[in-house]
This record gives sequence, structure tokens and C-alpha cells, in this order.
Amino acid sequence: MAVVLIEVLVMFGVFGLLARLSPCNPEQGRFISRDLPDNALWWMFGVLLYGDAAGAMIRAGAGLALGARGAAASTTIFAGYGWAARSPLWLQVVAILVVMDFIQYWLHRLFHGRTLWPFHAVHHSAEELEWTTTFRIHPLNFIVYGAGVLALTQLMGFSPAAFAVVAVFNQVIGALVHANLNWTWGPFRYVIASPVYHRWHHVKDPAIYNTNFAPNFPIWDLMFGTYYMPKGELPRDYGVEGAPTHFLASLVWPFREFVTRFVPPRKADAAAARP
Ligand SMILES: [Zn+2]
Ligand SMILES: [Zn+2]
Repeated sequence: MAVVLIEVLVMFGVFGLLARLSPCNPEQGRFISRDLPDNALWWMFGVLLYGDAAGAMIRAGAGLALGARGAAASTTIFAGYGWAARSPLWLQVVAILVVMDFIQYWLHRLFHGRTLWPFHAVHHSAEELEWTTTFRIHPLNFIVYGAGVLALTQLMGFSPAAFAVVAVFNQVIGALVHANLNWTWGPFRYVIASPVYHRWHHVKDPAIYNTNFAPNFPIWDLMFGTYYMPKGELPRDYGVEGAPTHFLASLVWPFREFVTRFVPPRKADAAAARP
């Protein structure tokens, strides 16, 4: 816990200072943004509740599929096995990153669809985008997109050391792409996600936020026609029209919204809605 707190304090200082030096949106607070208190609540919620969610999924899945032999199978999976675990560490790290990024690119697109959007809109609802926005993720979004994809990749047999490296990489890149910075990586903008690339993904305009889906490697967006990075322009005006921004409301709202998407409007409402 102490390590996690120190990590967060270091990021607070580093990203605050960097945002003073080269902000993407100078009108925002550099250290303290409007959404910081809610993002902090999302962070605490995650630290307290999520723990080893991917591990729990594997243990439960192995128990269901193999019964009494499930515990031994989970231990083998956590330790790594087969050709994947025997490959050099750097190759395992690259393979995990590419596999996870590809799956998450498509899942991210799915979360932008009509049915799942309310759960993902919580992440997009921050109006002052900064590094702490990365913690703002609805539990259902986290379980499927974060823990679920991690568990799926762990099944492939990669070693725990490789997953430890990937966890640090994802944490740093995740915070960096949300940071209030005008960095684009210049000629490398197609290789790795930059703050400007991901900030475009958070603007209010649906025509623009339905682009730049890749967590780390924009190559998927280039391949599948969703890349957006106009030259010489910087993104601004973030958030989601109609979505709540505060922690508790954002926790409940997606479930209500989700249900209304399947329940047909009552007769009186339908009549009132007619022009
Ligand atoms: Zn999104
Ligand atoms: Zn984001």
C-alpha cells in the first residue's frame, strides 16, 4: 500500500510539473483539476475492491471447468508454462503487449457501441482531462476490458515476470496518455500512443471520440480506419453530453441507462414524444 501511495504522489508531482511546462490545455488546473476529487474516489474504489481480479477469474474458471484439479491448473497458469514461458523475457513482454492491445482495441470499440456505452461513458465523462482520469473506470468496464483481457492472456502461459513488466508499462503509458501535455511523439506518433492522440479520444464530439481506440499502439487505428490526429491542432472540450460526472452518480447511472435501452417507452411517453 505504501508503495502505491508513493507512486501516486510521484506521478502527482511529475505530471503537475510537466503540465506547467507544456500543457495541451493551459486553461485547466495543472496540479488540481476540477475532476480530481472524483478521480481520487475512483482510485480508492479500485485499490480497495479490484485486488487480483484476473487471478480470481482464473481460479473460478479453472474450478468450474476442472473441479478438484482446478487449483493445480491455476497454479500452473500463474507460474507460466509451455513455449510462452520459455521464450526470452523481452519477447514475452512484446507478445503480451501486442495480444492485449489487439483484443482491447476491439473491446474498446464494442464499449463505444449503443449497448455498453453508458458503462464506458463514465471514463469519458471527465471534463478536465489529466493523468488521474486513468483511474476513472466503471467496475463493469474494468472487469471485462482490464481484468478479463489480462486473465485471457495469462491463460496463454507467459511468465509472471513478463506480466510484472507489462503492468508497469501499462501504468506509466495509461497515466501519460491522459496527462495534460501537448506531446505527439512527432514521427513516432503512429508507433506509440501519445497524450494528444488519446486526448482526441476524449473530446465531446461523437464524430471524434469514436476514433483512436488503441491503448498503446495506434497501428490498429491506422489498419482499421479509426486514426484521428489533425496536424497542428490540439484537442479541447472534453466530456460526455448527458452523463453525470460525480463518483456515486456515475457508479449507478450506467445500469439505469442500460435498462432503458431495452425497455420500450411507456405508451404515454411514446405519445408525448410524437411530434
Ligand atoms: Zn473510449
Ligand atoms: Zn482515456
